[in-house]
Amino acid sequence: MDTEHAYQELGLSPEASDAQLKAAWRRLVAAWHPDRNPAPDALQRMQAINKAYQHIRQLRDAPDTAQPETDPEQASEHQPQPEQEPEQEPEAQPEPDGAPAPHVRTVRLSLEDTILGCTRSLRGHFTHTCTTCVGTGQRVLAQACSTCRGSGAIRKPTLFGWLWNEEGCPDCSGDGRQRAPCDDCDSTGEVRVAYHRRVRFAPGMRSGDVLNVPPAREGAADVRLELKVEVEPHPFFKLDEHGVLRCEMPVNGYAWMTGRWVEVPTPDGLQHMRLNREATVYRLAGKGFPQGLRGPRGDFLVKVVPVFPPLGDPEQERLLDKLIARSNEAAEADDTQPLGQWQRTVKRWSGS
Ligand SMILES: [Zn+2]
Ligand SMILES: [Zn+2]
Repeated sequence: MDTEHAYQELGLSPEASDAQLKAAWRRLVAAWHPDRNPAPDALQRMQAINKAYQHIRQLRDAPDTAQPETDPEQASEHQPQPEQEPEQEPEAQPEPDGAPAPHVRTVRLSLEDTILGCTRSLRGHFTHTCTTCVGTGQRVLAQACSTCRGSGAIRKPTLFGWLWNEEGCPDCSGDGRQRAPCDDCDSTGEVRVAYHRRVRFAPGMRSGDVLNVPPAREGAADVRLELKVEVEPHPFFKLDEHGVLRCEMPVNGYAWMTGRWVEVPTPDGLQHMRLNREATVYRLAGKGFPQGLRGPRGDFLVKVVPVFPPLGDPEQERLLDKLIARSNEAAEADDTQPLGQWQRTVKRWSGS
């Protein structure tokens, strides 16, 4: 990098003071840091800015105009290192294809959405530093500043009128170059980007999964979304650590004892299931959570907890007595029934 180009990179003239140099560098680093600037070339610009700054610093720190000693250890001692050196933050590196830094947001999905897959309409907005003016709100022109005629300083008469004070030119920050308002950001230095995307979430996403949405043009900017999935807790479906969907539900103990049908909620809706008094856990094949992203559905395990409601009124007592008496009669008539065999044995024994 030659010296003239280095000054151009920082928007400075070679006459700029050390303070102006440092201020320009700080401002540009803040504007172009890839963590904050989603522009595709932010990292590249940041590196060019740092290179230019180090080049000028080396020249200025050298004892005379000769080439500085190239002792890297010594050089780094009095070379102010940028606080946010992008090379030291690999996670801030943009994608190798030059895609813009993503806009990160969390998307909350219901458990059913993650099982069946879903489409979400996502709207939002964010601001980023204007790439035209690198956040200054002004464009730097080639011609000399009209206020100071390119000198970077203005002279002001003192109170007595016969002394002059030299001050830094307020219109060009002392670099002597003409400024014009930036039209791309209305001189605010920031550009607001609104986006509206329809995003498909494949079945099988879990909490903590990240979905990278390919970049798309939104107004004047390329918007890339990085979506972090957060699954909302469900009132009765539970996904265990092995990815097995489970549900525990109370059932009427009388219905369970007598093998009745009950309605069971599944991710696909209510389903009829026949109870069996030999079992409290039931496997509904293919009704569970996907095995891997877009994979086949696993099984859904339903655990029933038989509950015996108290017999609250005489009518219920009477019905239950009737049920017991009737079923005893049927048992006595059947030789193969253990209950009937027992009753006949006891009858014989007691001699009745
Ligand atoms: Zn601008
Ligand atoms: Zn000026």
